[in-house]
Amino acid sequence: MINLLWTGGWDSTFRLLCALIIEKQKINLFYIYFHNRKSRDVEVRQMKKIIKKIKKFYPELADNLSDITIVSDKILPHNKKIDNYYESLISKYHVGKQYRWLAAFAESREEEYFEAAIAKYHNRENSISAVLLKNTNGIGPDCKLKERVSDKDLLLFRKFKLPTLHLTKPEMEKIARENGFMNILDYIWFCHRPRFNYIPCGKCVPCKLVVESELAFKMALFSLFFYFRKYKNSNNIFKAISLKRESARRFKVSLAEQVEM
Ligand SMILES: [Zn+2]
Repeated sequence: MINLLWTGGWDSTFRLLCALIIEKQKINLFYIYFHNRKSRDVEVRQMKKIIKKIKKFYPELADNLSDITIVSDKILPHNKKIDNYYESLISKYHVGKQYRWLAAFAESREEEYFEAAIAKYHNRENSISAVLLKNTNGIGPDCKLKERVSDKDLLLFRKFKLPTLHLTKPEMEKIARENGFMNILDYIWFCHRPRFNYIPCGKCVPCKLVVESELAFKMALFSLFFYFRKYKNSNNIFKAISLKRESARRFKVSLAEQVEM
């Protein structure tokens, strides 16, 4: 039985589908409902859509999924140790705010481990995934923190297994296509401040990560335009158009290289 911290985003939904469809695992789903996050209701809506698609395409596996346990951030206990690890980590690496709360949640529970999906990033300085790669043993569902870590603040992740840490997003897409569940993965959500509850804003951190990762071509032009306006001080729509094209081209090349390997 896997305890998965699901966000409705690319990485954790990919993990959910791998565990369910490839590994035939039983999965307990947990979602932390952050009241300050504007996307919270869109995330819940998309997760329900994903569950519906799973039931439609894999009815024989649907019983292996628990209902989603939705935990309000308002009832999460403050954990002084975790707060200290987190404050210290963010001065050194890029670490999402949610990990402070996911870790506090995990620490407050009796389960030995929770799976948290963090992808491998290429070409990103100070990414937490690069540091975690050096401080974990095992691969896929067995990937967890080493007993001796190079930085004690990494103990923030001590109750997590990190099944996607060795995979980039294009590698995940390739696995999803090979196993026939890309059509479900297309329902994921990532933006924290969606416009009209449907269009990624292009300005929040997850949007920035998607634009700067290998998946920029998946963003709407509108979203890319707002990305350029906020982060590159440019109102030129052609920059958005050319990034979308260039990213789609790079993505195809990167997939082809992986196939050759
Ligand atoms: Zn956004």
